[in-house]
Amino acid sequence: MGDQASGLSLEVTPIPGLVVLRLDVREDSRGWFKENWQREKMTALGLPDFGPVQHNVSFNTARGATRGVHTEPWDKFVSILTGRVFGAWVDMREGPTFGTVFTVEMDPHTAVFVPRGVGNSYQTLEDATTYSYLVNEHWRPGTAYPALNLADDTAAIPWPIPLADAEISDKDKTTPAMADVVPMKPLKTLIVGALGQLGRALQQDFPDADLVDMVAGPEGSTVQVLDVSDPVQLTAFPWHEYALVLNAAAYTAVDKAETGEGRALAWAANASAPAALARIAAEHRLTLVHYSTDYVFDGSAELHTEDERYSPLGVYAQTKAAGDIAVATAPRHYIVRTSWVIGDGHNFVRTMQKLAADGVSPTVVNDQVGRLTVTPELSRATRHLVDTGAPYGVYNVQGSGPVTSWADLAKEVFRLSGRDGDDVTPVTTEEYVGGRAGISPRPAHGVLDLSKIEATGFSPANALDQLRDYCRP
Ligand code: NDP
Repeated sequence: MGDQASGLSLEVTPIPGLVVLRLDVREDSRGWFKENWQREKMTALGLPDFGPVQHNVSFNTARGATRGVHTEPWDKFVSILTGRVFGAWVDMREGPTFGTVFTVEMDPHTAVFVPRGVGNSYQTLEDATTYSYLVNEHWRPGTAYPALNLADDTAAIPWPIPLADAEISDKDKTTPAMADVVPMKPLKTLIVGALGQLGRALQQDFPDADLVDMVAGPEGSTVQVLDVSDPVQLTAFPWHEYALVLNAAAYTAVDKAETGEGRALAWAANASAPAALARIAAEHRLTLVHYSTDYVFDGSAELHTEDERYSPLGVYAQTKAAGDIAVATAPRHYIVRTSWVIGDGHNFVRTMQKLAADGVSPTVVNDQVGRLTVTPELSRATRHLVDTGAPYGVYNVQGSGPVTSWADLAKEVFRLSGRDGDDVTPVTTEEYVGGRAGISPRPAHGVLDLSKIEATGFSPANALDQLRDYCRP
């Protein structure tokens, strides 16, 4: 691929993600000039927007200096300022391309983008060669560098200058053979709020994810403590190990959020924490998935599209809207907006089942309508967005099928529990609240337009079928 106006072009290689750029070097009687790294033009050609934070320069006095093969846990953009090198790269990442070798001779016209986990090495072909590279993590003391022996038989790098005649550091002479290299693992996934209803479902679809929540899991669980509303804990966390963070944590007690204590907790978990995660996502170039609610709208619209303007009613709703606004600033984000979430935990359906079992005949509101969403569907949608690389942004995800009121749902749960649906008495919200203080206002219409996620190839399952499955003993 090339940018004809500038003479810049990009070539792919057998190592996935490793690309060679041919730079436009302008020469005249004084010398030469080049745009060595140009974010806009290079990303247009397909170079990742890799966010360099450190620039390193290695000056090599003599021809034959040979360095590497070192595998670094960050991305690297290599170019030559003076002289020439023979560059060699070996894929050290776990997976089918492990061990793949690519070599290219580089001079000031050439640059190479080296993704994390690909081993780097080079041999200088001229005296006074200057090798320059940008990296997107600050060098950290103690970083373990998987290394491969320069003379490894399997890689069989065709060094132009025999290694016996090359200058090699003592350390590089003792690095292991390919058979002894521990392949570099990919960056990990983190589920935040892993013990909540949604967090538990995400654990099924992201089985290798690291898990954190406000409290540690029960004995034998791998859930670690991370309170995402605590800046000290956030700063101490090793974010550079992750490519994907699924933020299922939230303060979801809608009425308690109207109290003094609840308001502060809700703002911390639902607004400040997502804002901090968005900053972390930008800094570490990770993808942040966050979960939103139909409560960010006042419910006057009968069908909510993703771009409806915020109009939250209660405190919980306001904090969630603030969280959405903050997360949308992360360059790589998915905001999954949902409603009436039913999963493994405390929820409306479980409450109705208990009332049915206890012989209670409740009153339930019939003027708030929507569709419920089971957590495995939210998790499946998350997998779909991440796996298909759908464009970043907001996506509505809700069970499909008929719109119901809470009272309709309660009647269905009663029937599925062997009770008479008429044991549930429908009432208006006004009747239900009956002048009681501390009940948060809730939107009347919670129906989400599903066409955007459907256009990406995801078909939400029917909400009532899901309810029947959920209630099956
Ligand atoms: P849950 O309340 O079941 O789970 C939330 C989890 O987050 C809990 O384990 C909670 O821990 C944890 N948590 C709370 N605060 C923090 C914190 N500061 N740091 C780390 N973890 C924290 O919620 P759901 O699974 O039902 O909701 C998932 C998402 O879906 C949320 O974003 C919610 O706003 C959204 N949503 C939910 C709806 C619903 O009907 N439930 C409707 C629409 C959207 P602990 O229990 O110890 O407090």
